[in-house]
Parts: sequence; structure tokens; C-alpha cells
Amino acid sequence: MDLVKETDLRRRMVEEQIRRRGIRDERVLSAMEEVPRHLFIPKAVRHLAYADEPLPIGEGQTISQPYIVAEMTAALRLSGTEKVLEIGTGSGYQTVILARLCRELVTIERIASLSEAARKLLATMEVGGVTFVVGDGSLGSPGHAPFDRILSAAASPSVPAPWISQLSEGGIIVLPVGGRYEQELTRVTRAGSRTETEVLGGCRFVPLVGMYGFQS
Ligand code: SAH
Repeated sequence: MDLVKETDLRRRMVEEQIRRRGIRDERVLSAMEEVPRHLFIPKAVRHLAYADEPLPIGEGQTISQPYIVAEMTAALRLSGTEKVLEIGTGSGYQTVILARLCRELVTIERIASLSEAARKLLATMEVGGVTFVVGDGSLGSPGHAPFDRILSAAASPSVPAPWISQLSEGGIIVLPVGGRYEQELTRVTRAGSRTETEVLGGCRFVPLVGMYGFQS
């Protein structure tokens, strides 16, 4: 892919798939226009890098559809000062988008080979401020808590309890909640000892495999 063509593909992706569907957060829109998504896509399917669909990234996992990445990121309402926990590093694409929009990012992935590939790619792109952790993200990351925002790209039957206890006051969690194959994109906001839950829409994510997620 040459540079002009892919810049153009990204601009169209943002206009047609994201802005047109109602995402208005300009910081999210520019991040998605600037980050070279094709670098995160395996060669065999790279020609589909800017298509309106999720794609395989190996190990039975997927990179989310561009619109879903935008919707989840916008739902976090980032101003740039936040400390964020991402669960499900996968290809590292969402990681880069988040890193541009927050102060500090911890990203957890259970499959070591995916985490390592993402870490290397981000190093070549000179993306800083990201800590990579391999392990069960359903437990959160107690050593790095508290977090102002938590975003999960893996689906869980309910909101993992450790995430709520590692969330700072006024903090927001965005995650898919539901069954193994179909879920609802959910936003949880913490206010004191209470949490408020909003359903943002239907979605399909790979399962969160871990202690507070699915068993396998
Ligand atoms: N945001 C990623 C999407 C990856 S799909 C991207 O842009 O490419 C979700 C990822 O969650 C998968 O890589 C999967 O291995 C990971 N995952 C599933 N359960 C997990 C757990 N308990 N802890 C950490 N990562 C998990």
C-alpha cells in the first residue's frame, strides 16, 4: 500500500464508517485518521485493513471493527489526563489510539505472543507511556491501580469485581457484557460507593478468559 492511498483510505474510513454513524469526539476521530491501522493487520488480510469489519490477528483472536474501536474510545470520555487500563492488547491497535488520548496506559493480554508482537510494533512506532502486562486481565492490575478509565475488548458475563474496586472516583469502565457470542456494550460509572450502568448497544467480542470472565 502506498502512503497517499492509505491516508486516503483512513480519511474515508473515518468519514463513512465513524463520523457518519454519529461519533463526534474530534480527538478520537483524528487519532483514528492518523494511526496506520494496516500495520496491525496480518499480511494475508491487510488489503482489508480499512474495511468495515473485524479481522483475524492470529491465536483465534480478532482486531475489532474500526467503528467499535471509535465507539468504545469515545464512550470513555477521555480528556487527556487519565490513567487507563486496557484489557485485551491483541494487535495493539486500540492501545495506540488510547495512548494518544490519555496520560498513562497499562495494557494486559493473556496470550504472550500477541503482547510481545504489539510491544515490538509500538516500539518501532515510538509510542510511549504504555506498560505491557501478560496475564489475566479479569483481575485488573492491582499493582498499577487506581485507574480513571478501564476498557475491555473481551466480553465478560458480568463486570469483573476487581475492576470496580480498582476504579477511581468518577471513573468509567467500558466493556461488552453478556454471553459468549453476543453481548451489550456497557458503560459503568463510579459515583462514591455506587455505580451507574448504561447499555450503549449490541456487540460481538471474543470472550474474556479468566477468573472473573469465562472459564475457557
Ligand atoms: N483491542 C484489540 C482487540 C483484541 S481481541 C485490538 O485492537 O487488536 C481481545 C483480546 O483479549 C484477545 O487478544 C484476547 O487474547 C484477550 N483476552 C481475553 N481474555 C483475556 C484476559 N483474561 N486477560 C487479558 N487479555 C485477554
